[in-house]
Amino acid sequence: MRKKIVAGNWKMNLNLQEGLALANELKAALAADKPNCDVVICTPFIHLAKVADVVAGTVIGLGAENCADKEKGAFTGEVSAAQVKSTGAQYVILGHSERRAYYGETAEILKEKVNLALANGLKVIFCIGEVLEEREAGKQNEVVGSQLADSLFDLTEEQLANIILAYEPVWAIGTGKTATAEQAEDMHAFIRGVIAGRFGEAAAESISILYGGSCKPSNAKEIFSKPDVDGGLIGGAALKCADFKGIIDAWK
Ligand code: PEP
Repeated sequence: MRKKIVAGNWKMNLNLQEGLALANELKAALAADKPNCDVVICTPFIHLAKVADVVAGTVIGLGAENCADKEKGAFTGEVSAAQVKSTGAQYVILGHSERRAYYGETAEILKEKVNLALANGLKVIFCIGEVLEEREAGKQNEVVGSQLADSLFDLTEEQLANIILAYEPVWAIGTGKTATAEQAEDMHAFIRGVIAGRFGEAAAESISILYGGSCKPSNAKEIFSKPDVDGGLIGGAALKCADFKGIIDAWK
């Protein structure tokens, strides 16, 4: 049985005090009402060490939103995978479309980041997804297939076991426009097929594939009901405890 996961991506929101308050609120909400899925919050670097203390011993996992493509050294302003791991975090988001689009993260750079994250014992939430023009041209499978092949196909099956995929159609991120449950299922089934082609059926059956893009309490249940959708990567709705909890509850 593959893992069901709801992961939040705080992006560049919340100061340290606000982040700690949100983590504490979520901790209380999930202690009072246990989730039926894994729950992860991915925060800015500055929150990690303190949020790690808040969520220690709870059901809540912790992740960063990025890490460097270099091991260590003179890379001012960067944060390495080893540094992320040392905060107590267990996950890192890599390949988010905002990193690809605004910070020029190529497949090659992402390959380095994935290798360093895995080598340092982090689980990777690896994002893939097409932009609107690609979807309108019917090229979404080609684009997503290449994103998978170009950054992940050199991994071993053992390494792949620490990868979670997040299909995030770029046109649905932060826009209020959600993919339909059918569009999500079509793509997730395609992704599982691509993974099966490279790593085999067993690996494809056990990898979790999350949907991301304007997911909210009102649409999560329908999207999560699809057989190849194993949960969600949540942006905006992860910033309010009640909304995030509402999405977590979609697994009940
Ligand atoms: C995201 O950026 O990962 C995301 C899914 O954002 P939103 O939920 O706000 O669309």
